[in-house]
Amino acid sequence: MQHPAQEPPEIAETLRESEERFRTLVQFSFEVYWETDAQHRFIRQEFANTLADHPVSEIGKTRWEVPYLEPDEEGWRKHRETLDAHLPFRDFELARPTPEGGKRYVSVSGLPIFDKTGRFVGYRGVGRHITDSKRAEEALRESEARFRTFVDHATDAFILHNEDGEVIDVNRNACESLGYSRDGLIGMTPFFFDLELNAATWQRNREHLEAGGVATVESRYRRKDGTVFPVEVRMREFCQGGQRMIISLSRDITERKRTAEAFREMRAELAHANRAAAMGQITASVAHEVSQPITAMLCNAEAALSWLGSQPPDLGELQRALAFIVTDANRAGEVLNWIRALIRKTPARKESIDVNNAILDVVTMARSELLRHGVSLQTDLAALPLIEGYRVQLQQVILNLILNAVEAMSCIDEAPRELRISTTGKATGAILVAVRDSGPGLDPTNINRLFDPFYTTKPEGIGMGLAICNSIIEAHGGRLWAGANEPRGAVFQFTLPSERE
Ligand code: ADP
Repeated sequence: MQHPAQEPPEIAETLRESEERFRTLVQFSFEVYWETDAQHRFIRQEFANTLADHPVSEIGKTRWEVPYLEPDEEGWRKHRETLDAHLPFRDFELARPTPEGGKRYVSVSGLPIFDKTGRFVGYRGVGRHITDSKRAEEALRESEARFRTFVDHATDAFILHNEDGEVIDVNRNACESLGYSRDGLIGMTPFFFDLELNAATWQRNREHLEAGGVATVESRYRRKDGTVFPVEVRMREFCQGGQRMIISLSRDITERKRTAEAFREMRAELAHANRAAAMGQITASVAHEVSQPITAMLCNAEAALSWLGSQPPDLGELQRALAFIVTDANRAGEVLNWIRALIRKTPARKESIDVNNAILDVVTMARSELLRHGVSLQTDLAALPLIEGYRVQLQQVILNLILNAVEAMSCIDEAPRELRISTTGKATGAILVAVRDSGPGLDPTNINRLFDPFYTTKPEGIGMGLAICNSIIEAHGGRLWAGANEPRGAVFQFTLPSERE
């Protein structure tokens, strides 16, 4: 038997050092170093001790005898072609079962080795464990898929834009609502389907966004088939990978608009019904207001006739009587105009209103109603700035508050029934109107529901009076609220911003 010649010590030392360098290299670069022979049998395997669990050695087995979970047969067939052709390979990914029943992913690279005569003697290579990165990749893919599903199932249209507005990505809802394919929308400018948008408005919206805000705008989108629908668009700008992007979420508000329109119509109907009902309640007053000037006119006309019949006719007295008739006719005309305006469905034009004056008009109309119920009235009207608004609507509010107070007080018999209407000018320029009564007051448990539509405690109430008052005051930029009056009763107050504001 031949023994290998002893190497000289310096060569042995060099070899040892080289071997150590090699181990360090493997240790920190790869988890496995391996060698196979010409039959692809493992003849050497070195595992880095950075591995938490050492895989079982496969020395003596061929590659095909080692159990693999991945790749599939087709993947192995291709790999085997590479091996049989003695070609180098790089990052061939495979998975082995772990004792716990999981998968260990390895990425393997190998180089064929040939001896001096050029004969293939095997492969030498390394393996890297890629289970963690593979898992992370899978998790990311899954989370992306989940996110995509979520985004695709969202009831809003998601549109991602670059800084110039160009569409970068969309969800399914965006495609469905606009009638384009995803590819059709990507690269499109939003000015094409958003009818309210142009380069200038886009820029304005972005300026708003750059301040870190979310911009919400109403707009109209045009579908591929040319039909148009209203949308509410919320936009937010963000930065990803150094690129600024804008995400817009649009919601089809056709239904909401329709409901709002229906509600407006219904409210207008009810407001009209409420006004008509209020009118019904004060017909006695109105009749009085109209009949008074008519009676006066009759008297003056009779007087005029007798001045005319006297010898000689007293032209001075005649002129005076006719002037009275003109004044009274005007007054009766005004009352009728007011009633017509109150009963009319559509609001008149906005105008500058002297609120004190408007209150006095209403008080005049309601006077005999107050009298009939034995209610005494006190008015404290301060000098006020003018208000911009709808005179008849504000008068409707005051009339409603007066009639509610009268109704509330009608059950009080043992104490005086007092109604006090006051106005105050605020330092801010706003004005405050208060209607106080000495009735039973408000039920504190239901004070929040007073202004709800259809809230009523009256057997024949509709419960729309205060709801309508509230919406009128809000539409004028003011606020209406209720509270307890001192020493008893209720107080309803509202503010209105002045024209100066
Ligand atoms: P309605 O008069 O048809 O009931 P409103 O909206 O005008 O409808 O009033 C709602 C409810 O608010 C009334 O039913 C009543 O209970 C209460 N309310 C309104 N005004 C007064 C008041 N001055 N004093 C006490 N309760 C009041």
